[in-house]
Amino acid sequence: MDCGDYGSGTFNCNLETKIVSNTNKHIVILGAGESGIGAGILAQQKGYKVLVSDNGKIKDRYKAMLEQYDLEWEEEEHSVERIFAAAEVIKSPGIPDSVPLIKELKAKGIPVISEIEFAGRYTDAVKICITGSNGKTTTTLMTHHILKKAGLDVAVCGNVGESFAKLVALEPHDYYVIELSSFQLDGMFNFKAEIAVLLNITPDHLDRYNYDMNAYAESKFRIIQNQTNEDYFIYNLDDEITTNKINNKQIKAKTYSFSLNQELEEGAWLDKQEQINILTNKQQHLIMSIYDLAQKGKHNAQNSMASGISGSILKIRNEVIRESLSDFQGIEHRLEPVVSVHGIQFINDSKATNVNSTWYALESMDKPTIWIAGGVDKGNDYTMLYGLVKQKVKGIVCIGEENSKIHAAFGDVIEDIYDASTIEEAVGMSYRLAKKGYNVLLSPACASFDKFENYEERGNLFKRAVRML
Ligand code: ADP
Repeated sequence: MDCGDYGSGTFNCNLETKIVSNTNKHIVILGAGESGIGAGILAQQKGYKVLVSDNGKIKDRYKAMLEQYDLEWEEEEHSVERIFAAAEVIKSPGIPDSVPLIKELKAKGIPVISEIEFAGRYTDAVKICITGSNGKTTTTLMTHHILKKAGLDVAVCGNVGESFAKLVALEPHDYYVIELSSFQLDGMFNFKAEIAVLLNITPDHLDRYNYDMNAYAESKFRIIQNQTNEDYFIYNLDDEITTNKINNKQIKAKTYSFSLNQELEEGAWLDKQEQINILTNKQQHLIMSIYDLAQKGKHNAQNSMASGISGSILKIRNEVIRESLSDFQGIEHRLEPVVSVHGIQFINDSKATNVNSTWYALESMDKPTIWIAGGVDKGNDYTMLYGLVKQKVKGIVCIGEENSKIHAAFGDVIEDIYDASTIEEAVGMSYRLAKKGYNVLLSPACASFDKFENYEERGNLFKRAVRML
């Protein structure tokens, strides 16, 4: 089925043709979060008998939606017999494959899929899917911004915003920009992205992949499964893990890469004059200064290039892409400037939950910096930060419960390393350490759940403490 006449030809969409009568077919949805509720709404609309089952407590707002859409649900238990009688199980990406229930389902041969896989069966829209270890949300929103400015009927979904399934059920669009985590990709089998974007692959979430980097990378590469030569795959040529894998794979899609280090014949690259070049279909050649990008830092140049290539593939005019990349508003908790107090700029990068994203944050610091770091260390190796810390950091304030690895990693280059027991204390300490013209950067390189509900709470408390200085 044709679903767009952009690019080299028409996109060949994978609208499921085998959808017969679903009455009497049971679907069980495990996990009553954003994706679970969306999947429930869509499954019910398509005639399935639905049970939404969560072994934890369901949040009130989701309960209200379950009631509103008349979905059967249970919390703090799983009716195992019902679950084993399901034709298919849609699993929240938050539930690991290693839990006994999932293992048993798989042993019984009951398909366990993600909400994205399910919803993909019921739309013939163009799907631009974005994955990577870092930069997914930024690139997803940036790409959405370009398409929206171009006047296309587009929605953003997946890991950011609403669920894909809910939009397909209640608010269908011609284009979806979908942020995909590796956990969602693991539950995808027949789904096809018309445009797939793989930003980078660096160690993260390895606890869910038996500490096997190759397994994690393979999971990311599921983004290109089922693609044909009418589809597109955009990847980062500077990312070694990605390029090594590509060399050993048969890629059917038309590929475009982006690079900060090499000038290319097509795709996107940074040239010697520090200009971003974007060229696809050998037609549109967009050139703009890196200084005109709204989002600063090399990582955002990469995100801008990836988004720009998608726009260019869709034949969006250069002026629209340029304008979008130069007026895209940043996102909360990602290198978010908070406020300047007596000439000291406070920056909230609470979303940096791994070493790689903190590398980019430190790299983009153009002033001496007091760095607030630490939290739940997911097996961090801090060596890659050593050079940047030596060059840019004047003091470190640690906010984890356990900070000895940070002390050990940087103790010989940074004299002032202190531990703070609360984020308020960390802000006070950083303020005293900083001088006029310094930055204070919260970029923890660690997860937040030792002391905070999530990275948003950590960032919000940081901002509140800064504003109270
Ligand atoms: P994700 O959705 O993949 O977690 P975000 O866009 O939310 O990514 O950004 C997460 C963190 O990673 C932020 O701290 C941000 O500054 C940093 N970051 C953003 N884009 C990139 C990139 N392309 N490469 C590395 N780090 C990035």
